[in-house]
Amino acid sequence: MESLKLKGIPQIEKLLQDKKIAHWFPLISRALTTNIVRETIETIRKECLSGTVVPSYSSITERIDKECRKKWRRRIMRVVNATGIILHTNMGRSPIAEETWRSAEAVNCGYSNLEFDLETGKRGGRSGLLPDLFSALVGAESALIVNNNAAAVFLILSVFATGREVIVSRGEQIQIGGGFRIPDILRLSGARLVEVGTTNITTVEDYLGAITENTAMVLKVHRSNFSVHGFTREPSTAELAGALPENVLLAVDQGSGTTGESLPGETGVAEYIRQGAHLVCFSADKVLGGPQAGCIVGKREYIDTLSKHPLMRTFRPGKTIYSLLEDFLIRRLNGEQSKAGESFGRTLWEMRKIGNRIIRSLGRRFLSITPSTMMTGGGSSPDTIARSLSIELRLPDKPENVSRKLRDLPIPIIGTIDSDCVYLNLATIDSKDVRYIISSLVTLIAEYAQCT
Ligand SMILES: *Cc1c(COP(=O)(O)O)cnc(C)c1O
Repeated sequence: MESLKLKGIPQIEKLLQDKKIAHWFPLISRALTTNIVRETIETIRKECLSGTVVPSYSSITERIDKECRKKWRRRIMRVVNATGIILHTNMGRSPIAEETWRSAEAVNCGYSNLEFDLETGKRGGRSGLLPDLFSALVGAESALIVNNNAAAVFLILSVFATGREVIVSRGEQIQIGGGFRIPDILRLSGARLVEVGTTNITTVEDYLGAITENTAMVLKVHRSNFSVHGFTREPSTAELAGALPENVLLAVDQGSGTTGESLPGETGVAEYIRQGAHLVCFSADKVLGGPQAGCIVGKREYIDTLSKHPLMRTFRPGKTIYSLLEDFLIRRLNGEQSKAGESFGRTLWEMRKIGNRIIRSLGRRFLSITPSTMMTGGGSSPDTIARSLSIELRLPDKPENVSRKLRDLPIPIIGTIDSDCVYLNLATIDSKDVRYIISSLVTLIAEYAQCT
């Protein structure tokens, strides 16, 4: 009786030979596809045992296909960033140049001298030219690379301040997106937080008054996602560096990696070094525009202590990051602009040019160009909201539905929703994606034109 009810459910092996299902092997692996086939068949068996009729072969493969697609969409894939936020943490922050990516190929697809000294033929250091390149970029004595800036802060605190006191201004007890809180990271490192000053005012005397024989460090933290205005004051790094006793380390979490160029509300890494900070750390994939890494620059003796510490072993990047960063920094030192830098520099005129190309191909019935704003993002220059332009999409549907359709495209297009419309911000759209955007919108608009 039972087997009769299940008659007609296809064999798993047979389904796996079906082209419609096998085409998922290269996209999500044969193993995951097989799991989905098994689970779907198992569910169908249960449904049939409780009285449902066996679905048709094509509706079974359709069901499996849908599940495979769902799985595939969870892969990391390229998207079109039309949000107007240049360094969007949810979208991988800064893109890196194709030339940089290609130049790292040989090192990554073969063996390399990652930790081998070609001069002596013996084991060597891991960081290649990076300390020299970073030092040249920001005028520091030495440099060290870890996996990200959170690791950099944690390493600095753990190596120099475990069991000791770290003085931080009350105005800088911040949380950066994703749960990275300065007081928490301090506690985790085993250091004791000593708060000084107030939210808006902290003076040199506040810092000096808090120093005890147990003070290891003064930590300055860049307020990366908000700003304080009005009656505010804090000492400059130079003032602090001049006033602190010699045995107290002055470390700065600069965050964004702004180097020489000045973004409003940002002090560059080079400036902190010039003013006498002993160690400065920052992300490589924010304003700097490189791959994900954390960089620590500063006095050679401190950098050496950090590099030799056993904890460094848990934070060290692999050859992929080293090779990408090396090429990135060489180009940077030779005056080439990063991709993020190109976006920062895009003018309204250039945005309008891209917008006009799109409008010319699609007409004005559902689209127009409207004034809009753009942001740096990635925890930098919170005050800098610059003018930009957006394509406004007015389709006869809820903006949430339109936005969903754009996300479902083979290369998802991520825009924003504001008062009943979907917007594609022209500040962050790469001009090489314009043709793709046009052809995707042609299809989308045709869908709606049919129903109206
Ligand atoms: C972004 C940021 C961090 C964290 O950097 P990650 O590279 O994301 O780990 C830490 N401190 C400040 C001030 C930041 O802006």
